[in-house]
Amino acid sequence: MFKYTFSIVLSILFTSAVAQNTTGYWQQHADYTMEVDFDDKTYQYDGEQTLVYTNNSPDTLQRVFYHMYYNAFQPGSEMDVRSRTIKDPDARVKDRISKLDEDEIGFMRAKSLIQDGKALNYNLVGTVLEVELHHPILPGETSTLEMQFTGQVPVQIRRSGRNNAEGVELSMTQWYPKMAEYDFEGWHADPYIGREFHGVWGDFDVKITIDKDFILGGSGYLQNPNEIGYGYEDDGVNVKRRGQTLTWHFIAPKVHDFTWAADKEYLHDKLIANDGTTLHFLYKNNPDIIDNWKNLQPKTVGLLDFFNEHIGPYPYDQYSVIQGGDGGMEYAMCTLITGERAFGSLVGVTAHELAHAWFQHVLATDEAQHEWMDEGFTSYISGLAMNQVMESGKDNPTARSYKGYVSLANSGFEQPQTTHADRYQYNQAYGTSAYSKGAVFLGQLGYLIGEENLQNTLKRYYDEWKFKHPTPNDFIRVAEKVSGAELSWYLNDWTRTTNTIDYGIEKVSTDEQNTIITLERIGLTPMPLEVKVDYKGGTSEMFYIPLRIIRWQKPNAGKIIEDWPWAYPTYMLEIPTAQYSIEKIEIDPSGYMADVDRENNVVTLDEEK
Ligand SMILES: [Zn+2]
Repeated sequence: MFKYTFSIVLSILFTSAVAQNTTGYWQQHADYTMEVDFDDKTYQYDGEQTLVYTNNSPDTLQRVFYHMYYNAFQPGSEMDVRSRTIKDPDARVKDRISKLDEDEIGFMRAKSLIQDGKALNYNLVGTVLEVELHHPILPGETSTLEMQFTGQVPVQIRRSGRNNAEGVELSMTQWYPKMAEYDFEGWHADPYIGREFHGVWGDFDVKITIDKDFILGGSGYLQNPNEIGYGYEDDGVNVKRRGQTLTWHFIAPKVHDFTWAADKEYLHDKLIANDGTTLHFLYKNNPDIIDNWKNLQPKTVGLLDFFNEHIGPYPYDQYSVIQGGDGGMEYAMCTLITGERAFGSLVGVTAHELAHAWFQHVLATDEAQHEWMDEGFTSYISGLAMNQVMESGKDNPTARSYKGYVSLANSGFEQPQTTHADRYQYNQAYGTSAYSKGAVFLGQLGYLIGEENLQNTLKRYYDEWKFKHPTPNDFIRVAEKVSGAELSWYLNDWTRTTNTIDYGIEKVSTDEQNTIITLERIGLTPMPLEVKVDYKGGTSEMFYIPLRIIRWQKPNAGKIIEDWPWAYPTYMLEIPTAQYSIEKIEIDPSGYMADVDRENNVVTLDEEK
C-alpha cells in the first residue's frame, strides 16, 4: 500500500518537473568579477575575469562562446567588409575600419582560460571566442570560468572607442569578453557587425585601475566614492587622491551588460529625481554646451517620471547620462550620447536612450532578431514623453513614424521585421523597419484595442517580463489577456510579412432613403474600420466595423455595425439617410491605422446631389 502510494507521488512529481522543463521559462545566469589595468598611453588594458555561469537550461552544454567585440575594428573584419559592401553604408563607418593602423585598431584576446581549475582550449574566430569546455555544464549546474585577457581600444568609429569627434577620450562599450546568450533557441554567438545585442542576465563587480586624472561614469554603483571624489563623494568629505592611479570599484546588480566612459575634462552633476533615483550627468567642460546640459537635467527628471508612470518603476537607484560615443546608445543604467546638439535634440536623444532603460535593459528582448521591439517601443514611448515634457502639443506624436513606415512600404525595399538586424539589404530599410514600423506597431495596437488597453498592456508586460528576455509572442499574449481580443494575426501580418493595409471607398450609391457606401479591402492585412460620416448641418457619426477574426469589439469606438470577414474584398455600409444629406465620408480619420494609401480613404460628396 505504502509502496503503491509512493510511486504515484513520485510519478506526479516527475511529470510536473518535466512539464516545467519543457514549457516553463528559463534563462541563463552569469556573474562577472573583473579587474582591469588601463594604460592610457597605449590605450591597451589587461584584465582578469571570473565568470560564474549557471546553466538553467534543460540542456547539457559542451561548449560556450564569448563575444570579443573589439576585434571588429580591424581591416578585413566582417564589420569592415559589410560596411564597404552594403549599398547605403553608415556615414560614421564607411571604409574607416579598413584604414586603421596597428596602433589604432581594436583587439581583444584571451591569454588563458580555466574552467573550475582546468585549462581550456579555445579558438578566436573574428569577434567570437569558441571554447571547448573541459567538462560539460549539466542542467542546473554552475561552473566558474577564469580568463586573463588583453585589449586595445580602437579609434572611435561606431559606438565604442577613443577620442570621439567631440573629444571624449574613452567610450568603453562592448569592451570585455562577454558570454554569448544561450536561450530557448540555442546559442546566439553572432559576429559583431556593429549593430544589436543580446546578453546574459547577471551581477557585475568591476574594478578599473586608471590614471588618477580620469573621471568615469557608467553602469553600476561606485563602491569607493570617498576615495575617488570628482563629485561622487559624500557631502563634506575632503578627498585626497594619492599615487598616479585610482581604482574605481563598481557593482551593477541584475544587468546584462557593463559600460563605462572616461575623460579628464568631464563636468559631473548629480541630481536626485522625484522617485529617488540619483541622476548623474557627465559632459565636457565646453562653454558651448554647458547651458544645454544644465537645462537637460530637470527635463530628464520629467522623462523619468513619465516612463515610471506609463511603463513601470525604474528598478535601479542610479542612471547616468554621459557624453561619449557617436549619436546615442543605451547601456545598463546609463547612456552614451553625443553632446554638441541643439537643446531639443539633446533632450530627444536622452528621452530615447532613457526609454531603452525599460525596453532593452529591463525588458531584454533579443535585439538582433526583434530589433523592432526595443527600437520601436522606445521610439513610441519617448515620442509621448517628449510631447509632455517639451509641451509640444502634438495630436499624434507617432505621426512621423507612420509617415516613415508608409514611405518604406511603398518603396519596394521593405523586408519583414523578422529579418536579422544585420541582414537588411539597406541600412535605411533596417532603420525604418525597426524604429518607425516598430513604433507604429504600438500606435496601431492602440487603434485595435483602444488606448486604455494599450497602456495597461505596457504596464502588465513590464510587470510580467522585467529582468527577462521577452519575445514578440510574449508581448502579444499580454495584449490579448489585457484586452480579450485575438491578436496573433496582427503580430503575424505586421512583423513577419510585408503585407500592407489599404482600405478605400470604392463607391457611394443611393436609393430613395438609404446611402450605400461600398468599402474595399485592397491590401492583404485586415483591420477593423472606423468610418466617419459628416452630415450637412455640422453633425457627424462614427461607424465601427469590427474585424471578425479579432472576435472582440473595441469599447467606445462608435456605432457598432456588422463585422467584416476579412476574406471578403468588399463591404456594404448602409446608412439610413439619403445621400444629399451627407457631406463627407472618411475611413480612419484618427490616422492611427497605417493605411499605405490615404487618397482613397476620403470621399467628399458633390453638393448638387
Ligand atoms: Zn534606440
